[in-house]
Formats: sequence, C-alpha cells, structure tokens
Amino acid sequence: MAKLEEVKGVGPKSLALLNKIGILSIEDLVTHYPFRYDILKRGNLGETDDGEHIVIDGKVESIPILLRFKGGLNKMNFRFVTNSGVVGVSIFNRAFLKTHLAVGTGVTVIGKLDKKKNVITAADIKMGVLTNQQKIEPVYHCTSGLTNKNLSTYINMALLTYGREIPNYFQEKYQFSNKKTALNIVHNPPTMEKLKEATIRLKYEELFAFMFKINYLKERNHKNHLGLSHEIDSDKLEEFIAKIPFELTKDQRKAVGEIVKDLNSKSRMNRLLQGDVGSGKTIVAFISMYANYLSGYQSALMAPTEILATQHFHHLEELLKGTKVNAALLTGSMSKKEKEKVYDGLRDGSIQMIIGTHALIQEEVEYQNLGLVITDEQHRFGVNQRANLQNKGKRPDILYMSATPIPRTYALTIYGDMDVSIIKERPKGRKPIKTYVKSNAEIKEVLSMMYEELKNNHQVYVIAPLIEESESSDLTTVVELKDKMNLAFGSKYKIDIVHGKMTAAAKDCIMKDFSENKVNILISTTVIEVGVDVPNATMMVIFDANRFGLSTLHQLRGRVGRGSVESSCILISDTDTKRLEIMEQTNDGFEISEEDFKLRGHGDLFGTKQSGDMTFKIADVKQDYKILLQAKEDSYAYLTSEEFEKEPLKEYFITTIEDVK
Ligand code: ADP
Ligand code: MG
Repeated sequence: MAKLEEVKGVGPKSLALLNKIGILSIEDLVTHYPFRYDILKRGNLGETDDGEHIVIDGKVESIPILLRFKGGLNKMNFRFVTNSGVVGVSIFNRAFLKTHLAVGTGVTVIGKLDKKKNVITAADIKMGVLTNQQKIEPVYHCTSGLTNKNLSTYINMALLTYGREIPNYFQEKYQFSNKKTALNIVHNPPTMEKLKEATIRLKYEELFAFMFKINYLKERNHKNHLGLSHEIDSDKLEEFIAKIPFELTKDQRKAVGEIVKDLNSKSRMNRLLQGDVGSGKTIVAFISMYANYLSGYQSALMAPTEILATQHFHHLEELLKGTKVNAALLTGSMSKKEKEKVYDGLRDGSIQMIIGTHALIQEEVEYQNLGLVITDEQHRFGVNQRANLQNKGKRPDILYMSATPIPRTYALTIYGDMDVSIIKERPKGRKPIKTYVKSNAEIKEVLSMMYEELKNNHQVYVIAPLIEESESSDLTTVVELKDKMNLAFGSKYKIDIVHGKMTAAAKDCIMKDFSENKVNILISTTVIEVGVDVPNATMMVIFDANRFGLSTLHQLRGRVGRGSVESSCILISDTDTKRLEIMEQTNDGFEISEEDFKLRGHGDLFGTKQSGDMTFKIADVKQDYKILLQAKEDSYAYLTSEEFEKEPLKEYFITTIEDVK
C-alpha cells in the first residue's frame, strides 16, 4: 500500500503533525474518524427569532473593518448579503480572516442573531456557501498546526488513492456497501441516513474483526491439546471438601466441577471465576489447588496486595492441616534470605502451593512443575502481567478470579476468550448489608450507630480516601479521622490506622490485630478494598463517599456482611447523594456495575491498564452492544464454517491476532 507521505499535499511538516496524533499510515488516516458532526442547516433571517442561533450563507458586501482592543483582542465587522436579506456580521478575534473576506466572497456565518440591531455575532465563519439546504460537517481531533480543514483534505486525498479491497464477506452476507464508499460517506456525509448506514457498516466490521480474533483464540485453545492432563482422584478430593467447616453452595460446587473438568482435560484451562464480593471464591480456589496437588503439580495463587496474600495464606494453612501439602508465602517485603528459601523449594518441588503478590511472576521464580496458576481479583493485574504468568511453567492451567461484576458488554470483550464460571448464590445465612447515605451534619447519629456495634463487641471499618492533606483539597484525611474517632471512642476502644504508604509488614501487623479483634476500629484508605475477610466487622463508615465510583463502594462494602450478623454501611457525603442512593437500594454487584458504567464509563471500572484493550476506532462497546452481539455470533459462525478454511480472508483476520492477546 502507498505510504502516508505519498498522499498529495502531505509534506514533511504535516507528516510529523499527523504522526504526532497517532496517524502513521494511510489506513490510520482514512480511519481517523470524526468525533462529532456539526450540522449546518441553512437558516432564514425572517424566520429566526431574536437571540437565536443561525447558520446562513451569502456574500461579503463591505470591506471588513477591524477594531483592535487592549490585550490583543480584536473585532471585525462587515455587511453580509443573504437570500433572506442584508445583515451585519461581527466576529471577535479572527483578524486573520480579514484577507479571506474580500467583497463578493461566499461564506457561511454561524452565530447568534440580534434582531433589533440586525447583526449576527458570529462564533465561526466558514469559507464557501452551503451547496444544499443542510451540510453535515465532520469535526476531527486536531493538533496545533493541523486544522480540521487540513485533515479533511488529506483524508479525501488518501481515499482517492486508498486501493485496499475490503473483505467481500461483509458485502455478500449483508449487502453492505464497499468499505471505500462507507469511508467516503463517513468523511463527507451527504445525508444523515447515509451517514448512519455507513457508520453501522464500519462499526460492524471493526467489531466483527475483534470478536473473530477473540473467538479464534478461544477455539484454538480448546482444540489444540496442549494443556497438562491431570488425573485427579475424586475420592481424595471429596475427603478434602468434607473437612471444610461449611457446606459449599450449589454455585461453588458447580464451579469446582467445571474447574476439575478443565484440569482433567488435555486442553489448557483458561477460565474466569466470577462472583460478587463475599460470594466465596477463595475456597473454590483452594479446592482447585488441592485437586492440582492430587495429580502431582504445584499451584500458585497470586493476589494484588500483600495483605490479601498473607490472609489467603493463613486461611490455606488452616485448611491444609492434616494433609501433607507444604504451602509457602512469597511477598516483596520478605528478606532476601527468606525469598531464596522459597525459590529453592519451588525449584526442587518441596513447596507444592505458593501464595504471593506479583513477586510470583518475577524472573527468578522457577517452578519444578507448575500445573495451576490462579490470580485473585484479576482485573487489578495488567494484561502484560497476565501474559507473563501464562508463560511460567510448561503450560499451567489458568484460573482468574474477579469480584468486579463486569457489565455484559465488557465481559464479552475483555474476557471473551475465556470460559466463565459464575457464583451467584451467597453462602447461607448472609443478610443483605443495610446501607445509609448521611450528610456530614449527621455525624453524631453516625457515631451513635458505631457505638451500638462496638458495644456488641463488633468491629468497624472507617474509610478515608486520602492519606495526607493535599493543598488542593479539604478532604477528610485518615489522620484527622483518627483524632475525631479518638475523641469519641478513644477511652474505651482501640483504634488503628492502615494506609498505602505504610510498609507491608506494618500493614500486616495491624490487619492481624484487627482480624483477632485486638483493634476495634480500623481507619483505612482503600487499601482494604480487596479481599480481606474479618467476619466480626459489621459496620463500615465511608467518608467523602462521593469520591468513589459505585463499584468501588460496593467492593468496599463487601468487607462487611461476611458473617451471619446483620451488617451496615454508612456513606457520608454532602454532594452527589442521588448517585449514592443507588447503594441504599441494591446489594447486587451486577446492577451496581451497570449503573456505574452508565454514569462513569469503563475507564473507572478497570483503571487505565485495561481500558486500552478495548479501544475501538469507530465502535463504542457500550452503545453498539447489539452490533457487538451480532458480530460475535456471525464471526463465530464464520470461524467454524467450512468456507473459512478456504477463504482468503482468513489471513486478514488472523494477521493481527497478537494485538488482542
Ligand atoms: P470473595 O468471593 O469475596 O473472595 P471469600 O472467598 O473471601 O469471598 O468468602 C467470604 C467469606 O465467606 C469467607 O469468610 C468464607 O470463609 C465464607 N464462605 C465461603 N463460602 C462459604 C459457604 N459455602 N458457607 C459459608 N461461608 C462461606
Ligand atoms: Mg476474594
């Protein structure tokens, strides 16, 4: 294909500017889609009311007079003849237009009409008249030195030379227009109907290609028998399950069954275990690790924080009592010597189960025969970390666990290549967490609610969003909160702080005290957000709750309500209470994530790391969900059809498959 610099009009300077905004090839250029369209509909002086917006074309009738003011500001006035009469035009700070506005020049003026003065105060003046009653004008992301007009010109030049044939598949199956035509329309829309049609066609192709890749990965994974084949003694596994101090829920049972089946199969497991916070994913992970152990392999469980890794480790040790399994913990804060010992054990196979943070995937860690890798709260890991983990060991089976109830759309895209087990049912006896939104003025009431819990020997979490006072905000800080809490409860109850800037060892120490009920009130930043499990904690108070997304609040709230006692969560905020009230109404993580998603978009749900996985040029997974579903179905049908094997298109879809991995 031709190069970008071969497009007529693109010189070295504009090439650099195009590169700067991420346009590196002709294909990038023609798919640099407008982010908005301005609709210029020709108005009429007589039919436009005073103060109304108007778009009108005509000819410059008088030499524009330029007035200059202090501070470099200026204003230009000229007379303007239109089909519906003569009108004055004023425009601020466009002195540079003067040379273009010779008498007799045809232009389009966009602005506000002052009927009494018979003047339009223009917001913009575009060269040329409207050829039709209405013009749909694409608006592009530009950069200084590269105008909308420049971009439009280059794109149209490129379209003239852009010869690549699009896959016929779409044309045949859907009688779609050819891609070049669609691109032409999107960049130069003749009518809204045509624009819509062309947009859908391009969106569909983009989503089809994406879903095709996802489906391809999944199929390939299922078909090639490159996984480890486990042989799990189910009696021994049942014996282990029988020793667990509670009965598994139906969903937990089902998940265990699915995982064991994957382990036993020759294909490599690539499964997501999804369950709302508190649904009991950890035990499923531990059972899976035991099953993996029964067939002679090592297991690794990776958690996002040291606190969580440590806690998992203690629970696992408890569960392994009476078995021959040797389990170990590996975290970044351990001494070199301690780490070496663990590395040795992993290498020689004397350690069969390991729990840790991302330290587990660092280069030095070698395994004797890693058979199963589990990542907890998997959405916190970046894609690269995920990939790193997959490459450890020969071909370990992989289980991802996530509490983030992902809206269906995103589940399809980020997790589209995985099999999914879902835990919906909560452990028996759980009561929904009562949630209240309170204002700062109601703090006394909040304190007395806390007191009620403390009196019953229950524990309370208090959450503050920031560690230190930052100059720009007056947010409540942990330290400040501690003073407040001390004043209210210090004489009777033990209060401690945990925050992100503490060393891991210090955090662990405090968390341990809290889990042993030696600390009654734990003040914390969101470091406790994921995973920790202290069933005796029955209340959570979140200050500045408006600072958090609903999904984060739901995760936080999930720290309470873990025992059989009724728990509550108090959200303190003076603003944004409408949004927060959603939390009062439901305990369903899925519903909350859908709401959050509607309100904040995906960036906040996943952090920047993963939103990059889902950037489409023209499609929007949220709005184009229906197209996505169709594309998913179609691409799957196509992938599994006989025609695919012979198709020249195969190449087209598979070439960039590494992109989505
Ligand atoms: P999450 O899915 O959020 O990771 P956990 O695995 O931490 O949840 O489980 C939350 C709590 O529920 C833990 O205290 C765990 O021991 C308990 N639990 C898990 N499964 C059951 C069950 N089937 N019956 C009773 N309690 C359970
Ligand atoms: Mg968990």
